Amino acid sequence: MSGERVKDTFQNFSQDFVQRFQRKGQERLTIMVIPHGQDKVFSLQLNWYLILFCAAILGMLLFLSGYGFYEGQVRKQEIDRLNRLYGINFKAALQLADKLEDLKTSSWSIGHNMNDTARQIGLGELRFNPEDQYDEARNLAQDQMRNQEKQEHSRSGSSIHFLPPVYMLKTLQYQLGWRSHFLGSLQYWVHEVYSIYRRLPLGRATDLNATVRDSSGYGPRRDPFNRYVLEFHPGYDTRGPVGTAIRATGQGTVYRVMQNAYSGYGRAVLIQHDFGFYSLYAHMSRLHVAVGDKIEKWQLIGEMGNSGRSTGTHLHYEIRYNQESNHIDPLPFICAQDYSSHRCRDYHNNN
Ligand SMILES: [Zn+2]
Repeated sequence: MSGERVKDTFQNFSQDFVQRFQRKGQERLTIMVIPHGQDKVFSLQLNWYLILFCAAILGMLLFLSGYGFYEGQVRKQEIDRLNRLYGINFKAALQLADKLEDLKTSSWSIGHNMNDTARQIGLGELRFNPEDQYDEARNLAQDQMRNQEKQEHSRSGSSIHFLPPVYMLKTLQYQLGWRSHFLGSLQYWVHEVYSIYRRLPLGRATDLNATVRDSSGYGPRRDPFNRYVLEFHPGYDTRGPVGTAIRATGQGTVYRVMQNAYSGYGRAVLIQHDFGFYSLYAHMSRLHVAVGDKIEKWQLIGEMGNSGRSTGTHLHYEIRYNQESNHIDPLPFICAQDYSSHRCRDYHNNN
């Protein structure tokens, strides 16, 4: 068979098919509706084209509504899922934001206190004041987290954005890091200063709540045993009840203990401190230490009494410097830790 004939045969066949289809399509169907009890008859003439067309429309409608229902179900489930996920997280994020705001306020006041502390102890202003420090921390946090967002985007192609509370959390994290660093150096500083402080004989040998009153200070005075004689009083006298606790005003070593209740200082303790200082506690009723004992600041060393050359129950307290015989005025040492007694308020007002 040549190509021409194949083509002809195919054309004939297809023409034949089309003609048969057209004939079939144009065949008419008559649908008659015969209502009971009436003479009238409704008849409707249809051809197959129309029927096919209607069936196609009907099928499409059925498919679309089915598909729509399915889509709706899937979407509803997805929305439910997202609600469950982000609904809770969204509430949590809001609560978190509130709490973070509180934290920011606390951090701000801590920053102020630290700034004051730094100024008071002579470390000067902090490198940042609390407001600037927050801005600085926020800028650093933003840089870091935006980089993270970019990296995530180039890695996975999906764009992520941290929620605002996460930014704030990161900011506070930076800030706390700096504060912690500052507190570290402050701790070192306090440790150094405290170790000097506790070795110096400062403050009163009696407890703050003891019922005592100051009587004679350091300097020339009339001899309490003979009012016509001037003497030099080398210490500081505080009256109080027998048995009042007497404590070491600084860390040191017991250098001398006097036990003779009838001469001079009576029962007395001399403590040697670092940096060349001595402190002496005289006229006690009882002693609680022996020569060579290591003494902590505020350690109980004896009880107030009236032993030795004394006209009543009192503590005679002395500070000596450089050598055992070199007396100096104890008042500045006492008032270094006393801002409430009359004597020390006067002292602070005049110095
Ligand atoms: Zn005295």
